[in-house]
Amino acid sequence: MAKVIKVLKGTKDILPQDIGAWHRLEETALKVFSTYGYSEIRTPIFEATELFARGVGDTTDIVNKEMYTFEKSDRSITLRPENTAGVVRSFIENGMSRLSAPVKLWYKGPMFRYERPQAGRQRQFHQVGCEMFGIKQPTADAEVIMMAVDYLKALGLNDLEVEINSLGCPTCREEYKRNIKEVLKPEFENLCEDCQTRYEKNPLRLLDCKVESCKAIFEKPNVKEVIQSDFICEECAEHFSRLKEYLDKSRIKYVENKLLVRGLDYYNRTVFEIKSNNLGSQNAVCGGGRYDSLVKNLGGEDIPAVGWAMGMERLNALLPEVEVEKLDGYIVSNSMEDAVMLAQELRNKGKKVEFDLANKKFTKQLEKASKVAKFALILGEDEIKSGLVSLKNLATSEQVSVSREKLGELI
Ligand code: ATP
Ligand code: MG
Repeated sequence: MAKVIKVLKGTKDILPQDIGAWHRLEETALKVFSTYGYSEIRTPIFEATELFARGVGDTTDIVNKEMYTFEKSDRSITLRPENTAGVVRSFIENGMSRLSAPVKLWYKGPMFRYERPQAGRQRQFHQVGCEMFGIKQPTADAEVIMMAVDYLKALGLNDLEVEINSLGCPTCREEYKRNIKEVLKPEFENLCEDCQTRYEKNPLRLLDCKVESCKAIFEKPNVKEVIQSDFICEECAEHFSRLKEYLDKSRIKYVENKLLVRGLDYYNRTVFEIKSNNLGSQNAVCGGGRYDSLVKNLGGEDIPAVGWAMGMERLNALLPEVEVEKLDGYIVSNSMEDAVMLAQELRNKGKKVEFDLANKKFTKQLEKASKVAKFALILGEDEIKSGLVSLKNLATSEQVSVSREKLGELI
């Protein structure tokens, strides 16, 4: 026998018995996001590597360690590790800045990151997300958070924690970064290797570190004091307090977390995450924030934006399974011709119907029906002569004779 080829590490098949859960996520997304005025956008799964280097940021783990990059015809190409950069590229390329603001886009699909696979962390995983362009006011931040919470509620997830923080603007952040570096200087040797690199390149990112020994350092009173200090300028503070007002008015509960800095370089002012206590250490379901300079950095106009992405595998891990739906009817008959005709009639009415394609015995067909369908539609010789169908409810074993015209209403 030929050698069996297996699925690659960190990737998974989504099998027919699991697809219902994915349809639930996708259909709910379409429904909820439409009520907020969002349109779906589908961008390519691979893009020029430079898009992510510039759009995600070259101090991020994503760009430095996690991208699937390859060469084709002398071009460097990367499988998208996230979709904000792609959506922004498309926004610019298709002149969407000419549309009246806000432009509201949502997406879903696979993302690729070369990470260490573990529960809740894959190399090919899926995100559903949204981006809103053109509104600089905190009403936009509040609305995208509200939509995330509404989506989770519509899925049946009511008890998730919303965390928010403000990273300020590039100007007011500078002093904060300096202060953090200053207070961590004596601790440098005790920081993890990643944090030692971040220390120079992007000191804010240290606060995001998941390593216990680093977390302990951030708890030291003198370090904590600097981390918790209010550094944001008046305008950023105003933006943040208005966001909180809007969230209060929308009855969205949240907590402030100064350690929340997010992994991507492009965020300014608002950042947020939605977490669950039922996911173990991979506990973030949703991450997002404001990225006012990204459109400009990628060659577009100066257009503010805000958005988020959710991990679909993590959403499914929190939700009950979806049962595989049975067929409405399975036709049991020795006459292929009559079975085909009846199946066609019912399929045209939108019913899910199958019949035996392998010429099995009547009893075998009945057995099959009871496994896969809600009703057996029995077409024996008598039924064919009289133009009737024996309709057997396979849950109750009740059987009645009905006309073919009526059948569509009964199953
Ligand atoms: P994490 O801190 O868990 O690595 P992140 O900050 O890298 O998350 P984002 O880039 O903000 O994640 O992506 C948004 C969401 O996508 C996350 O909150 C998570 O639910 C999901 N996600 C990110 N990476 C993965 C992965 N490798 N496998 C599965 N889901 C993921
Ligand atoms: Mg990550």
